[in-house]
Parts: sequence; structure tokens; C-alpha cells
Amino acid sequence: MRGNAFEAKVKADGGTELLRLLVERLGGTEPPPGPGAAATPDLSASGPEGRVARTALALREATGSGGWTLLDHPLLALEVAGSPAYLEPDAVVVRPDGRWTVVEIKSFPMIDGSADPSKVGAAARQAAVYVLALERVAARTAGAEVADRVLLVCPRDFSNLPTASVVDVRKQLSVTRRQLARLTRIEDIADTVPEGTTFDLEHCSGDELTAAVDSVPASYAPECLAACELAFHCRARSREADAVEALGRGVRGELGGLTTVASVLAAAHGESGDPRDPTVAALRRAAELRAEALASAAAAPGRTGGGDGRDGPGPAGSLSACEAASTGGTSSSGATTTSTRTRSRAGTGEAAATGHGHGRSASARTES
Ligand code: SF4
Repeated sequence: MRGNAFEAKVKADGGTELLRLLVERLGGTEPPPGPGAAATPDLSASGPEGRVARTALALREATGSGGWTLLDHPLLALEVAGSPAYLEPDAVVVRPDGRWTVVEIKSFPMIDGSADPSKVGAAARQAAVYVLALERVAARTAGAEVADRVLLVCPRDFSNLPTASVVDVRKQLSVTRRQLARLTRIEDIADTVPEGTTFDLEHCSGDELTAAVDSVPASYAPECLAACELAFHCRARSREADAVEALGRGVRGELGGLTTVASVLAAAHGESGDPRDPTVAALRRAAELRAEALASAAAAPGRTGGGDGRDGPGPAGSLSACEAASTGGTSSSGATTTSTRTRSRAGTGEAAATGHGHGRSASARTES
């Protein structure tokens, strides 16, 4: 609600204050238009395809007009994995020189001219996708150019007054382009699922939907907890498969060809794995260090040697911290004292992701 009220305030009077902020931050030869001087075309149409077409037409007309135009909640389409995804920026401004600028209006505050970097980063990634979608329209519009710097508008300090900053999204653009190019096409994924699979919420039972979801390969990582409604389902599947992906992408990357927690533990205990393999060698060294640390902790005066949750989670030589992390637990101090990079990241990564997932998933989904 607060966000909607702030956005309405920013766009009031035909976007006069918004356009003033844009000129102030982005510069340019043209002065900002006075109240009501900028065109604000009606973008309503039936269905998403109609709205996308209406937006493209408005962008073309605005570019040809040589004046200021503010497009309020235009609808853009971007092909993602072979299917159209519809995107709705808060606003797009067309300048008299034909440049198009994406405007993102957020309700988080900008205090002393700077905002929470993680929120600004998320806004930049979001805006970069809008810029990509706009580039496809601009390619078919004479005289149009899409700016790779977007305007981020936020409440100033603790007030409800708008302020703005310019965000350069060139890096996010190149990352997003690369990711989109690497996405598997939906047709290719569909070819791998059994004939007749459907995700029809109205006509499928819970069991049928679960089976349908299970038939699609997933690549779970703890980061999913903050972004995807299927995260708990995929995490359970990943744990059932004993997959090291459940420990985090960083851990997965360091474990090379070891793809299950059991194979990691076996390699660490010397039961399998080539000792010349640097990953296996590192795991064995980590297990030795842990065993030494637990042994010396147990021998220290005044320590009982395990079982109290502070001296160690299990018998010396075991990698129970790794196992604990793989099942959603956090490693105890025993893991910390003898930590290898691998095990330490496993514990903290999953713990951090779990914390975010429970607390932030709703807001993350809302923002996306
Ligand atoms: S939780 Fe979501 S994003 Fe992560 S693997 Fe499952 S479906 Fe994919």
C-alpha cells in the first residue's frame, strides 16, 4: 500500500516531478516539461498481446513526436526459453531526442543519497530485463535508442518525498543476455516429460500435480529458498537424492566429480576416491585436521570431549557437520574449529539460506 501511494505521488501531475528528477539526474539538452506538458498515452487494451502492441505503438508515436512522453506501466514482451514473458516496468520515459529510459519506483528509502545495496542490485537486475525487452521494440522503431542507465526513484530519507539516482545496468544487461541465451527451450524440456503430463491446477489432484512436478528435472540450490515457491519440494528431492547441490553452489563447485554427500564422506574417510585428485586430498586433509582438533579438545582440562553440543557433534574423524548441513541442520562449534572451506560454507550457506527462505520468500516473490 505504501509503495502504491508513493508511486502515485511520484507520477502525479502527469509525471512533472518524475520528469524533473530525470532531467536533474541524467542531464540532457532539453529542459524538463512543465505540468501537463508531457504526453501520457492511454495504454489500455484487451489481453497481454493487445497491451504489448499498444505499448509498441505508443513508443513509436512518442519517438516520432519529438516531445516528452511518459508511459505509465507499459507492457513489454520478452522471449524467455522460447515463450513470451510479459513485463511491466513502473514507467518508461521517451525524451524529445528519441531516447527511452526505464524508471523504477521503489518504496525503500534512499538515506543521504544511498540505498540498501542489495535492494538497489535487485532493482538493477529487474530494470535490465526491461531494457532488454525495450531494445527489441527499439530495433523496429526509427530514431529510438534505449538508455543503459535507468532512473531509480525512492523516498528521500524518512520522508515521503521522492528522490532519484541513476543506475548503470550494463553489467546486468550482459549477464541477463548470457543467461537468456543459455536457457533450455521450454519445448526441449516438454519433450522429456511423459506424454499427457499436465500442471492444470483445477483438474489435477495433489498427487497428480506432485507427480507432474517430479517428472521435470530441477536443479535445487539454497538460493531457491528466497525466490521460488517450489523450494521446499525441490530441497526435499535434492536431499532424497543425497545431492551435494543442497549444500550450495559454492560447495558443489568445489567438490568436482563428487556429486553425493555419501561419496564425499567416503572420499574423506579414505574409502573411495583417487588420492591424487585435489578434491579428495583436500577432503582427507580436512578430516585429519578435524580429528586432531576434536582429539585435542577432548584431552583439554575441563572438557568432557563431545556430546554437550560445544565440544563436537560426534566422534572424532566423522564429518557429521557436513551431514548435518546436508539435512538442514547447522554445524556446531566442532565444525567451526576444524573447518575446511568446504564444510564451513556448507554449514553457513544452508543456514543463511534457510533463514532468508522462511522470513523473506513472500516479499521476494512480491518484488519479482
Ligand atoms: S526450487 Fe524452484 S528454482 Fe529451485 S530448482 Fe526447484 S523449481 Fe527450480
